[in-house]
Amino acid sequence: MSTKGFIKKLQNKLIMSDYESMLDKAYAELPELMAESQRFTFEKVKGHIEGTKTVIINLKQIAKDLGRKPEHLLKYLLKESASAGKWAGTRAIFASKISASSLNKKIKKYASEFVFCSECGKPDTTLEVDRNSITRLKCMACGTKKPVKSIR
Ligand SMILES: [Zn+2]
Repeated sequence: MSTKGFIKKLQNKLIMSDYESMLDKAYAELPELMAESQRFTFEKVKGHIEGTKTVIINLKQIAKDLGRKPEHLLKYLLKESASAGKWAGTRAIFASKISASSLNKKIKKYASEFVFCSECGKPDTTLEVDRNSITRLKCMACGTKKPVKSIR
């Protein structure tokens, strides 16, 4: 190998290892918030379209995973999809056709609004309603209390 070729190879190697250590650094510096929300998972919706309705069979389980009342989650989804709906036993019935991906997106939005703490990103939170009907998200991990939208 020529000297020039050798130097070129060496340079490439150096660039490569720089890049790798840069990646390591980037991983190490990933905010804790992201790690937390990745560790916390909930099921994707399961169900089917029935005529003009959408039937979801595991919404109660999803609410349980999120630590929220099924009624609260359903009300939110109905409002967000501008649909009527109700429980039929353990199944949630939406009076319109809604795709699973659209529901999953809305549930993710629900989780970021009503489950994850906006300060520390942890899911260890509860919803409290005070006597003025103001709902607050209270974080057990860092103590943050933040008003959230009330769903009617
Ligand atoms: Zn917090």
